[in-house]
Amino acid sequence: MSHPTRLEPSPTVWVVDDSPLDARQAELALRDWCSVQIFSDGSAVLEHFSAHPAPDVLVLDWVMPGVTGIEVVQFLRSDKSPMADVPVLLLTARGEAQQIVEGLSAGANDYLAKPYAPEELRARAQALVRSARLTQRAVAAERATRELLASAPDALLAIDATGLISFANEEAGRVFRMPCETLSGQSIERLVPSIALGALRRLEGQSRPPLPDVTIYDRIYAPSIRSAAALPDSNAIIAFRDVTDRRQQDRRRLDFYSIIAHDLRSPLTGMLLRTDRLLSVKRGPLSSDATNDLQKFMANIQSMVGLINGFLDLARLEDPSSTVDAIDLDLADVVANTVDDLRPLVEAGKLSLEWCAPETDIKVLGDKVRLGQVLANLIGNAIKYTPPGGKIVVETKLLENLVRTTVSDTGPGIPREAVPGLFLRFTRVPATAGKTGTGLGLMIVREIVEAHGGGVGVETELGKGSTFWFTLPRIDVRPPKVSNG
Ligand code: ADP
Repeated sequence: MSHPTRLEPSPTVWVVDDSPLDARQAELALRDWCSVQIFSDGSAVLEHFSAHPAPDVLVLDWVMPGVTGIEVVQFLRSDKSPMADVPVLLLTARGEAQQIVEGLSAGANDYLAKPYAPEELRARAQALVRSARLTQRAVAAERATRELLASAPDALLAIDATGLISFANEEAGRVFRMPCETLSGQSIERLVPSIALGALRRLEGQSRPPLPDVTIYDRIYAPSIRSAAALPDSNAIIAFRDVTDRRQQDRRRLDFYSIIAHDLRSPLTGMLLRTDRLLSVKRGPLSSDATNDLQKFMANIQSMVGLINGFLDLARLEDPSSTVDAIDLDLADVVANTVDDLRPLVEAGKLSLEWCAPETDIKVLGDKVRLGQVLANLIGNAIKYTPPGGKIVVETKLLENLVRTTVSDTGPGIPREAVPGLFLRFTRVPATAGKTGTGLGLMIVREIVEAHGGGVGVETELGKGSTFWFTLPRIDVRPPKVSNG
């Protein structure tokens, strides 16, 4: 399908030359394509500039009595001139390199040495018009983007590569309760400390953890990072969406489900106790069939209690008002403790477990109990799913900006198609059927790790084993320090 060509107005070119012959030659070269106006010296054209709209191109002779070509360029490019953007084509004397350098540094856009071929003058003038129009379009597009952003319903902060705010829209001014101009130039790290780390990491093109909610005055906002391709001085735009009402509704719903879960757990725990009592034959001897049935009954109740506990854990993690109780800690200590706690299960499973303790401290900002839960889930799974005789290796390593902990096993591995859903709710892989589980453990792992600003993943091969990993930001490596200079 052909598109109709957009009709551009016919260009206007002003030719400034003290030689009537040369001016006439330029006019002849250009007039078929544009409307040409001739000026015999620099002061005449400057005077004309003050009272008329600028031309599309100014063709300027270098050598003129009175105000010279270079002086005209210098004036046009000065701060005072409203004509600073007019494209200038300088006509220099043949081969005068000095003139060319001086002219271009003063702000001329192109040059042509006299004598020239008429087609060349015309081609150069046309090229200048084309690039000026492109620039005008880009400037108009940027202006339109800024206008659009200015009136967007979300609060928007554009930040540059150093983390300074380069643009704030009206809504941002309202949310942060300060004029937009005051917001511009501030460091995002100072304004919203909780998102600075994630935002800057995103700018560096590394892992992109979802940003946690932020409370600004009495409202809750969900920040998200958008590309800032249309704004030349910005690397990213952070949008703050007001989610106060939505979070309150979520919370009410979670509270409701949590109450039901709690209410279910109490009678189930009672049933477990009673079954245990029956199995321990305190109520009298049981036939082997009855023992068998009771054992199955008990396993089912245990699995239901596990499910409810997992749900309650997730509900707590998803509660927007719950915060990670983060302190400076040595992750290696947390791993060592969890490994110690789980040793009896390793032995019961006839497995070996190697903990490659790092030689240096592994400092992270984290919640000890929650990170212990992450490790217990990952190492617990490795123990649960690896057949006797297998080997589990736990390792924690310092990477450039991250701490990476891996739990590898020689278990059954996981089919490729199951991997994408693994960290989602209720995923259980058919190949591991037969082992009790809830399908909530890895989801809890992901929620906790992401709440710490980290990421999770797995590399696995069927029949060979799996390596689950999680990363956390290193606290001894801060994002680039933001300065106002
Ligand atoms: P659960 O273990 O309670 O079922 P998880 O969310 O911890 O729930 O794990 C989800 C599923 O991922 C498991 O059911 C199992 O199929 C698979 N899985 C997890 N860890 C491993 C592992 N180390 N080796 C093989 N399969 C695993």
